[in-house]
Amino acid sequence: MTITEFISQRELAARIAAMGAEIRRDAGSDTPIHLVCVLKGAFMFLADLIREIGGDVTCDFIVVRSYAGTSTTGQVQMIKDLGHPIDDRYVVIVEDIVDTGLTLAHLQEVFHTRRPSHLKTVCLLSKPSRRKVEVPVDYVGFTIENKFVVGYGLDYGEQFRNLPYIGVVEGMA
Ligand code: 5GP
Repeated sequence: MTITEFISQRELAARIAAMGAEIRRDAGSDTPIHLVCVLKGAFMFLADLIREIGGDVTCDFIVVRSYAGTSTTGQVQMIKDLGHPIDDRYVVIVEDIVDTGLTLAHLQEVFHTRRPSHLKTVCLLSKPSRRKVEVPVDYVGFTIENKFVVGYGLDYGEQFRNLPYIGVVEGMA
């Protein structure tokens, strides 16, 4: 199995800086922004993104499981829920990648019922050709083809999260 670099550290940093600025601009300079990071895959993205959003920003973490190996199970399980309420808050869901859209659609549905003042979504990567459900995503880092990617927080069997770039797995079993 080999990993080929697909999106470099430099490209990630530039795009994330632009997204952070856009999120702050859209929210308004005085609005407290509450980021909800979807673990595990989005931890590295959250760490970089939060430093690119100036002003008042807080974060919380949820853990979902929706994937086994490289094919979706279609099941979304919330293993760890939010630690703080989100009612009346300007919430931005931070996702690593939107593939079929099932995970995000489920999270948006659950969070809408908790009545945030705003519910936005940012994802680092999107694979539109794989969508099974239409799901709104306000900020997309990179739109990619149907490739299985790893690195920068994303895993294959829990490996490769530590790569500082996004890579494509070649010769996968
Ligand atoms: P969805 O519910 O949109 O099908 O899948 C979302 C989750 O599947 C992502 O948060 C991510 O954990 C996982 N996933 C989807 N595509 C990929 C991929 O190319 N590589 C990795 N490592 N995980 C993926």
